[in-house]
Order: sequence, then C-alpha cells, then structure tokens
Amino acid sequence: MSLRGWCPGALRPMMSGDGLVLRIRPHAGRLSVAQARAVADLAQAHGNGRIDLGARAHLQLRGVAEAALPALWAALADLGLLDQDAGAEARRNILTTPIHGADETLALVAALEEGLRTGPDLPAKFGFAVDTGAAAVLGGASADLRIERAADGLILRAEGMARGEAVSAAQAVPRALEIARWFAARRGAETRIARLGLAPPLRAEQPPLTGAVLVPGATPFGLCIGLPFGQIGAQDLHRLALAPLRLTPWRSVLLEGVAAADLPPGLIRNAADPLLRVSACTGAPGCASATVETRALARRLAAGLPAGATLHVSGCAKGCAHPRPADITLTGRDGAFDLILNAGPAAAPLRRGLGPADIPDAIRGSLAPRL
Ligand code: SF4
Repeated sequence: MSLRGWCPGALRPMMSGDGLVLRIRPHAGRLSVAQARAVADLAQAHGNGRIDLGARAHLQLRGVAEAALPALWAALADLGLLDQDAGAEARRNILTTPIHGADETLALVAALEEGLRTGPDLPAKFGFAVDTGAAAVLGGASADLRIERAADGLILRAEGMARGEAVSAAQAVPRALEIARWFAARRGAETRIARLGLAPPLRAEQPPLTGAVLVPGATPFGLCIGLPFGQIGAQDLHRLALAPLRLTPWRSVLLEGVAAADLPPGLIRNAADPLLRVSACTGAPGCASATVETRALARRLAAGLPAGATLHVSGCAKGCAHPRPADITLTGRDGAFDLILNAGPAAAPLRRGLGPADIPDAIRGSLAPRL
C-alpha cells in the first residue's frame, strides 16, 4: 500500500512520522471553488487538518490513516482529482504556469495530460512544464521538457538547452511526447534527460522569453497570497476559496479574478513580508527524522531577520524545505540546533547545540562582524 522512498501520489501514499502523506496533482495546477473546499474538508476529516503546497504546485494531505484511504480515493475520484492508476498519476508530472490569460496554456496541458494517460514509460522524476503565458516564468523549477513562449511563438526545449525548437500550438504536445518516447527508449536507469549524455533530437532555434514570478499582492490575474512555509490550514483554505485557485510553485496561490479579499490572519499579503524569506520543513513531530520543532521557531525569528537576509530552519541535515544555501541556516541535531552561515543545512556549523532561546543572540553575535 505505501512504500518509503517512493514519490508519493494520491494512489501511492508515503509513510511519514505523522501518518501517510497523500499527494494530489490538480489538473493544470487549478482548483475550482468546489474542489478547494472539498479538499479542505478531506484534510480535516481524514488528515491532520493541514495542507502542504509543494514546489511542483501539488497539494499534500498529511497524517492520513491507512483505513481512511478508500473514502479519500472515492471522494477524490468524484472531484476529478484521481488518475486511473498509479502509473498514469506519476506520468502526469506537469507544472503549469499560473500566469496565463486567454492563451493556449490550458488546452496544451489538457492535450499533454491526455497524451500521457497511456505512456510512455517514464520515471517518476521526469517532468514537463507548460510555460506559455506572455513569458516563461518556471525556469527556477525542475522540468525535463518545457513548452514555452518565445518571441515568434512557442518552443519546445529540453532541460540543458538554452534554445528550443519552434513549434506551433498543434505541434507542441505531439513533439513533446515524441521526445519523451525517445528518452524512454534510451534511458536505462537514468531518470533525467539532462543527464542522459545524449543530445535530444531537437533544433536549438529560439530562447524563451522570460518574465518575473508572482509575488503576494494584487496582480492582473487576481490576488496572489503567500502561504507561510507552503502550508495552509483546512479552515483557511475553505475561507480562501472565494474563486478558483491557481497553485504556484512559489508557496503561493492566485485567487483568479479577485482584486481584494478579507483574508484569514497569518497568510502573506504583500511582497515585503519577511516570512517570504524564511523556509522551514515539517520538523518534529511530523517528520520521524526530526528531533526539533521548526515552524513556530521560524515564525518567531522572521520578525527579527536582518533586511534581505534568508533563513532556513531544518529539522535535520537533509534540508527538504530548502536544500540550497541560505544566509542563516539552523539545522536540528539531537534535540538542539546547529547555526550555519551562507551554506546549506549539512555544512560545517559555526555554533552547535543551541536551544531555541539561545538562537536570536547567537544569530546577532555571528552576523555582527558581517553587518
Ligand atoms: S529536512 Fe529532515 S526533518 Fe525536515 S522534513 Fe526533511 S527529513 Fe524531515
């Protein structure tokens, strides 16, 4: 039923410290009002009442008991949020730009989903990006094949290529599937196209047009709202679902067409909020690898963060929430924290064995020579 180390899905939940993790991949990264409210209700009824938003704009229910799975699967199927089988679910690894208007984006995603229903046999990590708004904005997210906007139309680009092959809207998905089949036939044990050691048979013609990612606040497409640590409570999601929600890979959601709203407290409303510069993983007790609580500490430290500085509070050296360097990293170890500056969570610490109460002074003292 559930296996450690699998890429979790709705049909392939993964065991964690607080029960099963069940991942939902909304079509085109979008939830209708009814879907959003129903997912909130399911998290409340069958999970721990918290919903995670992941870096590929998927949702995760946590704390799910194995006995609840049949009811959850039935409800997700009714909502149109369950694939026909675990293989189809894994292949439907498509990141969709949340910044799209009256363009081809939704039709391209629907065609790609349809094309992936029955193959090819791709590894779970193999992913697509449909980044066809006015400019490509998903360059910071991982994807093996990207359909993107270029100056003269659309391009198909493989990871590692600076330029992509010009394609029409009608050609884009068939050509992407052709390259995916080309990869599947040659990959052996390799999971990513950029590491195959063979150049994909794509012409390098045009670079993508690139644009800025969404930040919290009003946008031409609706209201962008940041979720601290990429998580929201079920009741808050219920309240937020005033309009269809577009999920972003930037720990935020876009309320389609909404200019202003009475938001639940604790969410991020503007780009100046220091919580946007703070990452924290699940930590204890939700993750079995953690010996420290992470998110309440991260919230307390956010207000005192020096201007522009980034902070990462990690339950252990694995660094799930932010595997890259941060200006300040606190890594849990044996019930206390290591303090690390300008490096990742597994780097050599400047200070060891800090309790939560020691940390503000330790950060100030360590940063003082650098400020
Ligand atoms: S970084 Fe460690 S403690 Fe945090 S979620 Fe990942 S495995 Fe768990």
